[in-house]
Amino acid sequence: MGESTKLHIFLFPYMAHGHMIPTLDMAKLFSTKGAKSTILTTPLNAKILENPIKSFNQDNPGLQDITIQILDFPCTELGLPQGCENTDFFFSNPDLNTGDLNRKFLLSMEYFKEQLEHLLETVRPDCLVANMFLPWATKLAEKFGVPRLVFHGTGYFSLCASHCLRLHKPYKKVASSSEPFVIPELPGDIVITEEQVIEKEEESVMGKFMKELRDSERSSFGVLVNSFHELEPAYSDFYKSSVAKRAWSIGPLSLGNREFKEKAERGKKASIDEHECLKWLDSKRCESVIYLSFGTMLSFNNEQLAEIAAGLEMSGHDFIWVVNKSVSQGEKEEWLPEGFEEKMKGKGLIIRGWAPQVLILDHQAVGGFLTHCGWNSLLEGVASGLPMVTWPIGAEQFYNEKLVTQVLKTGVNVGVQKMMKPVGDFISREKVEKAVREVMAGEDMKKRAKQLAEMAKDAVKEGGSSDSEVNRLMEELKLVRMQKEEEKRS
Ligand code: UDP
Repeated sequence: MGESTKLHIFLFPYMAHGHMIPTLDMAKLFSTKGAKSTILTTPLNAKILENPIKSFNQDNPGLQDITIQILDFPCTELGLPQGCENTDFFFSNPDLNTGDLNRKFLLSMEYFKEQLEHLLETVRPDCLVANMFLPWATKLAEKFGVPRLVFHGTGYFSLCASHCLRLHKPYKKVASSSEPFVIPELPGDIVITEEQVIEKEEESVMGKFMKELRDSERSSFGVLVNSFHELEPAYSDFYKSSVAKRAWSIGPLSLGNREFKEKAERGKKASIDEHECLKWLDSKRCESVIYLSFGTMLSFNNEQLAEIAAGLEMSGHDFIWVVNKSVSQGEKEEWLPEGFEEKMKGKGLIIRGWAPQVLILDHQAVGGFLTHCGWNSLLEGVASGLPMVTWPIGAEQFYNEKLVTQVLKTGVNVGVQKMMKPVGDFISREKVEKAVREVMAGEDMKKRAKQLAEMAKDAVKEGGSSDSEVNRLMEELKLVRMQKEEEKRS
């Protein structure tokens, strides 16, 4: 293909690390397939993406460049605090009302409509990959004959579970919110309880927004899923036959990051020197360390943090623990038991802030992952061949947990029963100890996890299932382009 015939893809992520990280991975993937990608985002988010994009463009001179298109987002005019361009702004600040800001932030995405319309009209890309939270993007793209692809950021299992729960509403038929029931129609007889289900508020503003989102998905060109067929075959088949019009499995996207620098530069600047972190891991026995992270949106109260610390100590295992709790104004960091860090020196590493997660997960010293079951983390754990302790908090994380504990059987639940709203179940030190010990010792779980990691690597290799689906997608987009050109000529 000549320069002018190369595909040009717009990618518009939701402004949260859990969405921006896989979007950049996707842009890199498209670049390796000969397409040019432009990521649409705001000034502060552009700053986070700048370095990894610069490194990618420099290190891959033979590939198509990735570029950023900066969009205007006047926070204060939109009723948001100055500088609130990423969900991180309110999730990492304990002094703010997170729930309110989260809703307002989500709904203010509409502000981008006009700017996107102008860009689609003037640039006429071959495709727009827009996050699920931008439902109006489908119609806007259609106006200019641009196919819109939806990116949810989650996997097939949770998309299917969510569909079946919405359709059959089985949670309305149970006697209590903690009574287990099987999700109707969903393959695998998956058991869940009402207090773990998110599809309940259909009449609320958010419920209506979610409906709008599904409608826009139905009329879109299709859905991109960061997963691979072999991980969840029954659910990828179910999704493609019964839920979405069309879907392409293109993951695990994190596996596109092969070099040290790429892994180290993912997301925010790490709060620890990456080399120091690897040096610490190098000093540990193979598969002896458990890595704990609760993603980008959560911080526990002091009592729960102290309990986790005690449980880790009781487990006797070495650990790396990411704590993203920022200290409230005037508050002292008083959650760690007195002298804990000193006592654990050499045994445990606490990272306050941002960890180079994929770099850590890929290290041979890591033997288990305690995760909040955000889809990116979960899939990164799968790609690294790790058994998991599941500690879901909210969103679709309880569904993701069921995939791990009931389908893949590569992990155990720490014991969380219900969603955090705003406080979840208190998990005792004994439960933390028991789950960590179980996962670190579980030979069957380890074996299965390693097999999945092999399958994940195969899926993204040339000719693998995900690689083939990306190729098919590229071919389809080229076909759409040719059809458009023909229409213009005739
Ligand atoms: N992440 C990271 N370092 C951290 C915390 C998170 O690199 O200290 C990355 C993690 O690897 C994943 C993403 O941030 O790619 C979090 O996405 P996920 O879906 O797991 O969770 P969310 O925060 O969106 O709930």
